[in-house]
Amino acid sequence: MFATRFLDIPPLESIGGAVRVPGSKSISNRALLLAGFASGTTAIEGLLHSDDTRVMLEALAVLGCRFETEADRLIVHGIGGRPALEEATLFLGNAGTAMRPLTAALAIAAASTDSSFELRGTPRMHERPIGDLVDALRRLGCKIECLEREGFPPLRVSAGSSGLALEKPIRVRGDVSSQFLSALLLALPLRRDGADATIEVEGALISKPYVEITLALLERFGIDVEREGEQRFRLRGGQAMRSPGTFVVEGDASSATYFIAAGAISAVDAPLRIEGVGSASIQGDIAFVDAVRAMGARVDAGPAWLDVRRNRWPLAAIDLDCNAIPDAAMTLAVLALFAEGPSRLRNIASWRVKETDRLAAMASELRKLGARVAEGADFLEIAPPSSWRAASIATYDDHRVAMALSLAAFNPAAGATPPVPVRIVDPCCVAKTWPDYFETLFSAASTSCGSIPVLAIDGPTASGKGTLANAVAAALGYRYLDSGALYRGAAIAALEAGVEATDECALAALAARLDLHFDADRTLLGERDVSDSLRLESVAAMASRISALPAVRRALLALQLASRRLPGLVADGRDMGSVVFPDAALKVFLTAGTAERADRRHKQLISKGISANIVSLRADLEARDARDRNRSASPLKPAEGALLLDNSALSIEASVDVVLKAWEERRPFDRSPV
Ligand code: C5P
Repeated sequence: MFATRFLDIPPLESIGGAVRVPGSKSISNRALLLAGFASGTTAIEGLLHSDDTRVMLEALAVLGCRFETEADRLIVHGIGGRPALEEATLFLGNAGTAMRPLTAALAIAAASTDSSFELRGTPRMHERPIGDLVDALRRLGCKIECLEREGFPPLRVSAGSSGLALEKPIRVRGDVSSQFLSALLLALPLRRDGADATIEVEGALISKPYVEITLALLERFGIDVEREGEQRFRLRGGQAMRSPGTFVVEGDASSATYFIAAGAISAVDAPLRIEGVGSASIQGDIAFVDAVRAMGARVDAGPAWLDVRRNRWPLAAIDLDCNAIPDAAMTLAVLALFAEGPSRLRNIASWRVKETDRLAAMASELRKLGARVAEGADFLEIAPPSSWRAASIATYDDHRVAMALSLAAFNPAAGATPPVPVRIVDPCCVAKTWPDYFETLFSAASTSCGSIPVLAIDGPTASGKGTLANAVAAALGYRYLDSGALYRGAAIAALEAGVEATDECALAALAARLDLHFDADRTLLGERDVSDSLRLESVAAMASRISALPAVRRALLALQLASRRLPGLVADGRDMGSVVFPDAALKVFLTAGTAERADRRHKQLISKGISANIVSLRADLEARDARDRNRSASPLKPAEGALLLDNSALSIEASVDVVLKAWEERRPFDRSPV
């Protein structure tokens, strides 16, 4: 209901510890395609789980592949080169690594059968050119129709009239996307006749390292490609794709660039360890390591790990031909914000036909941060901000724009005064290659406690603050603290230990040892799930009594303060704004009439199958209100400056909107709609 529309990242001061990068997207989707079309069963380890691999898996399943999950391995039962059905429509999202090779594979598979396949994607996929691949396949004798616009998906591939024309070399352009050449290389082993096939690349081949990945994977699956430099590739006839048994996917070098960059900026006292990718990588983006070394960072490498730390500071500006590392170059564009002078990234025209026009996108978003940017047809020149601005970064449904620009949050390292938060609009787009990117960033990055924003939502019992706070936290992508659960948890512990509600010392000792934690939808006391017992009226009554004791409140304070973690916190209770987080950026005092609250609590209990009497519930609420209001320790009252919100007649959505609007008014970003 409340998807995270934007994520406000507070200024980040340092990064450390260890992070593991997910499996390589390029290798995962090639391995899936090869394992899916090969004969035999392949166990793939370290596979990336993301939007792009999901569309590939779904497409292969439609074509007849069977999959099993075994611990962290995916077992793929290949279709032996022949789709199980003759007609299908495949939806391939915005995954170029699925659209291009599947088009080639199915066109070649269809050429020798009577089949017909339609390949579709998102609207953006339908704007990404594929004409050069289509032309090459047509010259080869494949029948391909562009269903909406010549040269772009959606496409239909079907049986051609005269089989494949392999006598002459297949010519394909190499200067728009190396994926066209890769697609042909991956698909040609599926041809049925035993003839040799030769591919000739027209124009200079870009993004060469991705072709090397293709060749390395083909070799693992039993296909030998003879090559003459970068222009001619020859596949002898009679070779069939065979499972290598087990295939291990290495960590994604492009994903690693965000943390290599973060380490180069902010790993000051100790290196940041990046696990899953290192000097043994076959991915071209590992060359990013050389670029950050050239900018002055220190990187030590093992076969499958990297240790990165800041060295020269500020970083040295860079002037680099980035043709071979187009994805990693986006991270360089953000690193340029931390350099001593203007940096120039050259030969990156391919950015224009990626998930979005990345040249235009990066130029415009970097400018929002205060950088001076010159955008050329195939280059970007970036001068660091002289004064940083709090920017709301548009992400264009492009995971790399979101991940690269999140690094701008390390602006304290560049001496930004004041340090600025960075808003990432539609942060969920990172799911294309790294669904847990932000969680990983926040597990390794740190900042001073005071920089982490808190929204405090206080109010009397059954005012709906839990529901409201939860929804606000989900909308903002922030953490959630239900402080009442701590008092209730302490009450359970006290009831079970038989401690009297008046024994302040014993209760405070219990509270100080309270091992209460929240795990997805459950609340655990030690190992035990106490989610249901927490809601019992007997527990609430005990909680209400013990929460009046100053020593108990003090004992629970540290636990509450500890929940203030990146990227931000929404906390609900009685004294969140007044006592626990007096510096909260937004304080809300939520109320509703007693009758309304009694009715809500009644419905809540009944829906959980707990019998309840509305008259006694109301009396009980009033007694608890009185106790909360009149106690001397942290009495319930609106914090100074709190927004007073009576939600008696408001829906949850309407209350959430009021709070989000108030939050927005307090943010430093410009007010243009996101
Ligand atoms: O909010 P909830 O009803 O779960 O809180 C349980 C009890 O804990 C309440 O009766 C209230 O007196 C106490 N409490 C408190 N301070 C908080 C949260 C809850 O005193 N911050």
